[in-house]
Amino acid sequence: MIPFNKPFLTGKETVYIQQAVASGKISGDGMFTKKCHQFFEERFGFKKCLLTTSCTDALEMAAILINIQPGDEVIMPSYTFVSTANAFVLRGAKIVFADSEKDTPNMDVTKLESLITPRTKAIVPVHYAGVGCDMDSLMKLAEKYNLFVVEDAAQAIDSWYKGKPLGGIGHLAAFSFHETKNVIAGEGGMLAINDPRFVERAEIIREKGTNRSAFFRGEVDKYGWVDVGSSFLPSEVIAAFLFAQLEHLTDIQDQRKLLWKKYDDAFRAAGIAASHLPFLPEGCYNNAHMYYLVLDSLDQRTAFIDHCKSADIHPVFHYLSLHKSPFYHEKHDGRELVNADFFTDRLVRLPFYYTLSPSDQDFVIARILQFFKKS
Ligand SMILES: *Cc1c(COP(=O)(O)O)cnc(C)c1O
Repeated sequence: MIPFNKPFLTGKETVYIQQAVASGKISGDGMFTKKCHQFFEERFGFKKCLLTTSCTDALEMAAILINIQPGDEVIMPSYTFVSTANAFVLRGAKIVFADSEKDTPNMDVTKLESLITPRTKAIVPVHYAGVGCDMDSLMKLAEKYNLFVVEDAAQAIDSWYKGKPLGGIGHLAAFSFHETKNVIAGEGGMLAINDPRFVERAEIIREKGTNRSAFFRGEVDKYGWVDVGSSFLPSEVIAAFLFAQLEHLTDIQDQRKLLWKKYDDAFRAAGIAASHLPFLPEGCYNNAHMYYLVLDSLDQRTAFIDHCKSADIHPVFHYLSLHKSPFYHEKHDGRELVNADFFTDRLVRLPFYYTLSPSDQDFVIARILQFFKKS
């Protein structure tokens, strides 16, 4: 059986977890958490990083930090994971869904300006498959209307846009280390803070609304309840796991890029139309988070998945447009979002994981080419 995903282990995870446990400091913000923060700040130049228990939590922190109030409007793509929206809905925001581009699932930034109203507070770009949104235009728009930008960089670790790391461009950014991402911790995430105005309050919100972090640094002589907050910080067990992965980031990325290129080269060499294959806009880098195909219709995609499954290969489709979700469709303003629906019906993700063997990948490719020959 060839599944969609298999979590990759470097072998050091349990060694570091043992060290964390033996150190007698198992709760959060110990040695391994600091090592992870330092890794990201040095490697990508993010001003300040804070590990969280998930990307969902990092997004929830961002919504608190930019002070979302009931009735505020937040613009984001409809073709995304529920957490992108939920984090802001929890603070009472109204979500204004934007359509995807024609040739990528990313939000079409050229169509955003007409969605901005006096109530708009933030834009949340999602870098689908680790491919950057048009951040130059988006940041210009945000500046013009004085809006916050929170990057959902869940899939975008070690990815770049015109020389800048994704997650390092907006005011805030959220990363995920869920087991389906490039670098994993089981469940885990991180808030990257690029606007230094948010650093102090972010530490407080993450520590249940207390100034505990400042207390441990000796900046205040006692700590107490100073703001709203929750328990957003992960234990050292999770940070230890994550650090073992981060040490292998280059190796993980190299291997994933090889797998990605092998799929792409094989499909292009076989004459599969470019419209079926992932498109990388100018200036975008590919962090090999996933390899997807775009079929001609929902029926063709269903036939494709069945064709693969009958050979015990398990590709999976992805998001269902949020503007049509049972929870939000009645709150949505009724605009048609044809490109979001297009990807909802047609996109399929191929098996993609570090340990996918050359012979298994050959088998997947052959099975897929057979499908395109028949149809
Ligand atoms: C994975 C993912 C999330 C959620 O990440 P968690 O760490 O599971 O909370 C949010 N947004 C996008 C785009 C994702 O791919």
